[in-house]
Amino acid sequence: MTLTAGVVAVQGDVSEHATAIERAARAHGQDSEVLEIRESGVIPDCDVLLVPGGESTTISRLLQRTGMAEEVIAHVEAGKPMLATCAGLIVASMDAHDDRVETLNVLDVTVERNAFGRQKDSFEALLEVDGFEDPFPAVFIRAPVIDSVDDDVEVLASVDDRPVAVQQGPVVGTSFHPELTEDSRIHDLAFFETLAVEE
Ligand code: GLN
Repeated sequence: MTLTAGVVAVQGDVSEHATAIERAARAHGQDSEVLEIRESGVIPDCDVLLVPGGESTTISRLLQRTGMAEEVIAHVEAGKPMLATCAGLIVASMDAHDDRVETLNVLDVTVERNAFGRQKDSFEALLEVDGFEDPFPAVFIRAPVIDSVDDDVEVLASVDDRPVAVQQGPVVGTSFHPELTEDSRIHDLAFFETLAVEE
């Protein structure tokens, strides 16, 4: 069976995510097809879904305008895996403390946008991630932090005691950009380990 992976392509590093998904799929001996999604009607055909970074106000507006917002919610409600990174995490959350972002409420966390301050606008960190043997090279770009998590949410990694990677059921969210290095363990965790656990 070929895995159909959708990458929401209104903004963000779409081709880098596609490469990471294909790499993770190959490592599992799984054929994959990556679809770049710009309109409604495609998400229902996807086995797994990725909402990349970019500008959360823009992504939120386009998801609402195109009708893709409802499809993302239905995808998660059906228990299908989703990875939301950076601005994607902001959009997936319950609240971003910003009226311009209409959150999808599919991940029981609240977030603070651009939370690392000016000096630390962009940085790389070797991150200890729960379940990973070696640290993960995480690239943060005007990244959000998670400022509250519901009991059902598992914190997978933190920076200065602030959560930056979480999982709740089929949804994995990261403050950082896991597509910007050759390391596809986050894509693997979100799309292949989750499926494996459920089988
Ligand atoms: N700062 C952006 C926002 O708040 C997120 C940045 C990113 O996705 N790299 O929407």
